[in-house]
Amino acid sequence: MRIGLRRKFLLAVQTDAEAVLTDKVWNTRCLHCRARLQVRDDGEAMGHCTLEHVVPQAWFGERAAKNLCSLVGDNADDARNLALACTRCNHDKGKSHDARGPGDARAIEVISTLFAKRIARWRDVNLPA
Ligand SMILES: [Zn+2]
Repeated sequence: MRIGLRRKFLLAVQTDAEAVLTDKVWNTRCLHCRARLQVRDDGEAMGHCTLEHVVPQAWFGERAAKNLCSLVGDNADDARNLALACTRCNHDKGKSHDARGPGDARAIEVISTLFAKRIARWRDVNLPA
């Protein structure tokens, strides 16, 4: 796996209050369905663990998504916008809400709720610069 992607997995898991590191493996749960997920301490995802952008990357720069994007400093890869999700949930979200776009009120509502869930699980850590 690419170094950049591993780094994002680590950002997501280190700032996830539900993640616990045991024997060099992070254990946490899917942001959506709470399925168990694992990431190695070097950032390599295990099993069906995927990296999710809570506010979809494609929404950045869209006027209708301006408020959501500003919550993460207009940076899709801000740690607050990164979460771990199982393959199925990430795929389903991408095909439904993300694809409908920020012009869709229901999509905005779903992504806003998901962002609140992510922030509720936020853990402050000293992140390397
Ligand atoms: Zn899931």
